[in-house]
Amino acid sequence: MTALALLDELAAIGADPAGGWSRPAWGAGEQAAHDWFAAHARAMGLSVRQDAFGNSIARREGCENLPAIATGSHLDTVRGGGLYDGALGVVLGLAAAGRLPTGLRPLEVIAFRDEEGRFGPFTGSRAMTGDLAADALDRLRDADGVALRTAMADCGLAPATPQAAARDMSDLAAWVEVHIEQGPVLEAAGLPLGIVTAIAGQERFSLRFTGQAGHAGTVPMDQRADALQAAAGFALAFDALIRDAGGDARGTIGILRLEPNQANVIPREARLSLEIRDSDAARLARLAQETEALARTIAQDRRVTCQTRRLYSAAPVAMAAHLMAALEQAAHGRAMRLLSGANHDAGILGLHIPVAMLFVPSRGGISHTPDEHTDPGPIMAAADVLTATLARLIESPGP
Ligand SMILES: [Zn+2]
Repeated sequence: MTALALLDELAAIGADPAGGWSRPAWGAGEQAAHDWFAAHARAMGLSVRQDAFGNSIARREGCENLPAIATGSHLDTVRGGGLYDGALGVVLGLAAAGRLPTGLRPLEVIAFRDEEGRFGPFTGSRAMTGDLAADALDRLRDADGVALRTAMADCGLAPATPQAAARDMSDLAAWVEVHIEQGPVLEAAGLPLGIVTAIAGQERFSLRFTGQAGHAGTVPMDQRADALQAAAGFALAFDALIRDAGGDARGTIGILRLEPNQANVIPREARLSLEIRDSDAARLARLAQETEALARTIAQDRRVTCQTRRLYSAAPVAMAAHLMAALEQAAHGRAMRLLSGANHDAGILGLHIPVAMLFVPSRGGISHTPDEHTDPGPIMAAADVLTATLARLIESPGP
């Protein structure tokens, strides 16, 4: 079957009456999508197994016992998400496997669980790479407080430990993932394909500016310790810091909360949540440091205190040069190189094995909504480039 026909079938699974698709990890919709995946892969003559976390692994053995070439993506969605996010990489993997003859190396098509982070970032792929913490099964909970262990039991999965799905990653020689761009770059460039150079690293902080609450009418301006004014000054300076850094640096303050948040009270406390993303590890580290220093300086000037807390930190992941070159050759000039500002399963696997990603344009640059759309043209182009690249990789005896 073609990728488009497969995508059409998958569109019937987990369609949300409220709009779009809702296949939360280890829910009935995601499970049905994995069952659907297994049925198609078996019909193509691939062997299919689910690991202890329910990641689906379809495999065709090669002529020699070499590490496999793997492709795929994820089948879960955000609530009310689109048809293409994750699903596209899985159906293109299936379609390619259907077209490819047996090679020297084994070929795997993998559909991961929980890429969208119902239980935190990339639970499925991190289970496979062995990067989940020892207490993950009980500590990781979704927004409703359901424990990972409980959600997995609903799918008949009962891993003994968070390491139960960990595999020897040296069994995989490469991971090539097709994904929608989820941004506006390819559409603006008028190109059907993008070859990812790196997945941006990330630093996430929470900041708390604490001043003194007071009566909005009685406290003179020069005697205030206004937490919001400190936070506002910081927000502008932070934006300038990131803009001046140039390159791929991106900085966002996504949350601002005030206490007591009343019209006639000077804010006592302002809490911000911010993140910085960059493809350059050294610059990312420097920006994180300078951001904290900036917050301290501005707090001092405004006579408030500032506490900063690092919430999350992930290093940039570079794509493998030989895999980028293989994609580029197969793309015949239809592709540009670009950075992925969002992380993907490839970013988790890329900490262990050589990885590459091929992007297709997202109409309007939007994703995680029912309106997510990619035209059939770029999908067919990606199908051809993925198939040609995998054909070459499964015949290659070396890296
Ligand atoms: Zn995705």
